[in-house]
Amino acid sequence: MAKGTVLIIGAGGVGSVAAHKCAINKDVFKKIHLASRSIAKPNAIQKNVKKRWGVDIETHVVDADKAKDVAALIRKVDPEVVINLALPYQDLSIMDACLETGVHYIDTANYEPIDEAHFEYSWQWAYQARYKKKGIMAVLGAGFDPGVTNAFIAYIAKKYFDKIKYVDILDANAGSHGKSFATNFNPEINIREVTQEVKHWNKGKWVKSPPIMDPKSTHFTFNYPVAGKRESYLLYHEEMESLVKHFPSVERMRFWMTFGENYLTHLRVMESIGISRIDPVMFEGRPIVPIQFLKALLPDPASLATGYSGKAVIGCIVTGVKNGKESTKYIYNVCDHAKCFREVGSQAVSYTAGVPPVIAAMMVMKGFWTGAGVWNVEQLDPEPFLKTLAKNGLPHKVINYKPLPAKI
Ligand code: NDP
Repeated sequence: MAKGTVLIIGAGGVGSVAAHKCAINKDVFKKIHLASRSIAKPNAIQKNVKKRWGVDIETHVVDADKAKDVAALIRKVDPEVVINLALPYQDLSIMDACLETGVHYIDTANYEPIDEAHFEYSWQWAYQARYKKKGIMAVLGAGFDPGVTNAFIAYIAKKYFDKIKYVDILDANAGSHGKSFATNFNPEINIREVTQEVKHWNKGKWVKSPPIMDPKSTHFTFNYPVAGKRESYLLYHEEMESLVKHFPSVERMRFWMTFGENYLTHLRVMESIGISRIDPVMFEGRPIVPIQFLKALLPDPASLATGYSGKAVIGCIVTGVKNGKESTKYIYNVCDHAKCFREVGSQAVSYTAGVPPVIAAMMVMKGFWTGAGVWNVEQLDPEPFLKTLAKNGLPHKVINYKPLPAKI
């Protein structure tokens, strides 16, 4: 493998941020390769990166659903690390290719079969023995949430507590893009995620509750730093699966995300007329998948960046015990949409998802994160990761706080 060479797969909103950040850190990423299903998007990013940073990146076409094709590309470009920023459907084929070629793997979203809106780590955790045997690392879910939220919790647990008991992860996008409806990352993945059945962790088991569009959904008003009061909805989010496994002392863990009434009304209509269905329906004699058609109609998340204003605020409220005494910390990041646009031409959701996997790659390449096998971010040292992340546009703040009520 060529030291300092990185291969990014996926040239959407998140892949674009990652390519820019690698170019900004060209002392670490000496050679940058960017591949996607077709060449237009990688080439547009290549042009932009050259214009902003004077750095040359090489672009490629690959069908990441085909492990053999990905392995052939890996052999050609010889990277030290592959950063997978395509879609969750491609996780396993890219992991297979990394295994075949002996190259480290990093992603930001756990595997999801295309024909079932269901995501969990079991498929990727099943690679543990093979990655160990091959002597390579897979770092799973290294975006912001999952990713930085996992590192936030690991950091708070390590620095302030003997054990942690209650965790609330809160994700607010308090930004405005001026469109009547748009999603901030891939619409298909986003809609599949937020329309899922909700569950949270309580006293050793998952407790189910109605999805966010349901009038009986669980929500409350939270006063976010900088962004102010926002309605926050209980949602299932993938990092909770690994976090409750790796922090068995946690009695309660919940994930909250802000949604506006307008967004929820659109979701309700989409659900009721069936345009968000993921199963094929016949249209003029051929099968189409409604949610894929819907994706083609909705704004490309990368295109929202121009004129996006406001902040994204993501953080974790963690209650733990130190020397028998219980207390609570709130650790969070505030990211400004317009500032991200000025730096790399992207909005804050792409930025918060695209910077962390680059820093994770740096951790692996510089030897801060070592050990063959499949890892979730909370299992790796959070300190060099959060320190380097802060230097690269995503600083955090820790304040004393009060626990959120058990019943909301
Ligand atoms: P986009 O849809 O904008 O980009 C995905 C890219 O992958 C596109 O370039 C797409 O090509 C390419 N792609 C899709 N299928 C294939 C394939 N079979 N072979 C090669 N390339 C392919 O998505 P985003 O940039 O918004 O999101 C990227 C990832 O980041 C997603 O997995 C998402 O879940 C994750 N994410 C993680 C977050 C976190 O905090 N952890 C937050 C936000 C997103 P084309 O355009 O031609 O389809």
